[in-house]
Amino acid sequence: MTQDVIAKTAPAPVPPVLADYDRACAEFSWTAARRRLSGLPDGGLNIGYEAVDRHVAEGRGEGVALRCVRRDGTAESVSYARLARLTNRFAKVLRSLGVDRGDRVFTLLGRCPELFTVVLGTLKNTSVLCPLFPAFGPDPVAQRMRLGNARVLVTTEQLYLRKVAPVRDGLAELDHVLIVGDRRRDLPGTLSFEALMERAEDDFRVPSTDPGEMALLHFTSGTTGAPKGAVHVHEAVVAHHVTAAYALDLQLEDRYWCTADPGWVTGMSYGIIAPLTLGVTVVVDEGDFDTRRWYGILAREKVTVWYTAPTALRMLMRATPRQGPYDLPRSFDLSALRFIASVGEPLNPEVVLWGRDVLGLPVHDNWWQTETGCIVIANLAACPVKPGSMGRPLPGMTAAVLARGPDGTVWRSPEGRVREVQEPGQEGELALRPGWPSMFRGYLHADERYAACFADGWYLTGDVVRKDTDGYFWFVGRADDVIKSAGHLISPFEVESALLEHPAVAEAGVIGRPDPTAGAIVKAYVSLRPGVEPDDGIRNDLLAFARRKLGPAVAPREIAFDRNLPHTRSGKVMRRLLRARETGLPEGDTSTLETPEPAAAPGPSGAPGS
Ligand code: ATP
Ligand code: MG
Repeated sequence: MTQDVIAKTAPAPVPPVLADYDRACAEFSWTAARRRLSGLPDGGLNIGYEAVDRHVAEGRGEGVALRCVRRDGTAESVSYARLARLTNRFAKVLRSLGVDRGDRVFTLLGRCPELFTVVLGTLKNTSVLCPLFPAFGPDPVAQRMRLGNARVLVTTEQLYLRKVAPVRDGLAELDHVLIVGDRRRDLPGTLSFEALMERAEDDFRVPSTDPGEMALLHFTSGTTGAPKGAVHVHEAVVAHHVTAAYALDLQLEDRYWCTADPGWVTGMSYGIIAPLTLGVTVVVDEGDFDTRRWYGILAREKVTVWYTAPTALRMLMRATPRQGPYDLPRSFDLSALRFIASVGEPLNPEVVLWGRDVLGLPVHDNWWQTETGCIVIANLAACPVKPGSMGRPLPGMTAAVLARGPDGTVWRSPEGRVREVQEPGQEGELALRPGWPSMFRGYLHADERYAACFADGWYLTGDVVRKDTDGYFWFVGRADDVIKSAGHLISPFEVESALLEHPAVAEAGVIGRPDPTAGAIVKAYVSLRPGVEPDDGIRNDLLAFARRKLGPAVAPREIAFDRNLPHTRSGKVMRRLLRARETGLPEGDTSTLETPEPAAAPGPSGAPGS
């Protein structure tokens, strides 16, 4: 086991100039950002090399890369030097199997040290890594593996038997299945990961890559429809590196924990790649969500920066509410923690205030998507936080609010020109100027869908936002979710946030129910805190509460109680499913729907993905 030391031959930190935000933006250049990474000897970039080998080459090999916390709470450290050897070995394993540049390697694994070896070894080998979410059933697994042309799958015995064996016959391109860990039975057609690693050698020369060479394939969360396979390239690592320094404020001595599941883009980009490129210690928790366990890890591992999702924070808030006695968090020493960052869903202001009052910590929102490949808008560490706002674009990012036409899509002139909204505070679709290194390069096998994301030189995000006079962005809703009621545009997020301020409410999902007169009326699905009875008394109380907060035009007219609001498996409330249930229309693609299991809480796995 290695010692907890970080060599002091540190590279210069990314300048913490964000207190002077305007200057940081004016001075930023992606070319200069690229120079912060060393590159391969021939100048090309490789994500695996930048995340691991560069630290060894620069004398930081004894620094702790991973702190792996097992289910029983015990923990083990893995140094950068050891991770370099393990990832070399895995690259060699792939070579020995004839798996080469561009071949697709899929993972179906929970958070475990082997996952880091597989991901980074695959990237070193210039094969393409595609993570799958372990809670998917056999059909979503097969659907994604077929779409992504999987040649190799790395998984565990249990996951293989439950999710892959039933569909393996339909996966003609799948040549190799590697099983990690103990196996209790003979599994024909599979190989042992450990046996292959044992035989492989420690040294590997990382081949050169082109800047536009495919490195990662990420499926989106499927909140708005069938999931899309977003293609990312090796040079994305430049964006991972600088955005983690800016938005997550990661510095060499940090002990950083990201709770996002590695099956989603956050768990990969900010759970594995970005923090390692900055040389920090990454906490890897093999266990599941549990309030006491999570506070315990934050305290014991002396986590300094924590990246999680609104669903997880709402669950902690429910367990340790603002109004109640705060014994639980106070009985853990969270003094090492500088701040919490959140991503994947709108962060309700109530959660920010709870963080401040109960934990004594700032909670910073981050906005991005599977497609953007990196954090784009954030409440930056060194800048004032506005609770309820996503923050401002990071240096290197140009964001605009585009006017929408009567049908709700971005307005275009006959010549195809778009225009920005006229006034601060006006709603419109969030658009980004392409050109940063982690921008997706396509949806796999879906060129038309990709082309439809662009207009007049902008990438259209599909999210509706407002920008205030200070340049902060405020999330209104997904373009499909925004409610039009009696001529008003209503943000479901705003209504949900207001309801969440009521002490009886644990979670809310708000939709527009079609109405012949008003177009739509606002309907809220509410999950109450345990112990609160769903009766007319509480319904009337909530209706009146919302009306006081939001005014009669915006407040919900109807409230239904539902203990199991539909979530995507990455933890987001699926409003399109609430809408489909309301109208009796087909539910569409439900492969990413979280299936409520009796003991399971909604997965706070944090996509963009979280
Ligand atoms: P799909 O594209 O398949 O419908 P998805 O959009 O949920 O699924 P992701 O790429 O995982 O897939 O999520 C990105 C989306 O998540 C954003 O477009 C936005 O709607 C939402 N999101 C992410 N971060 C935030 C945030 N901080 N505030 C509000 N919404 C957010
Ligand atoms: Mg999306």
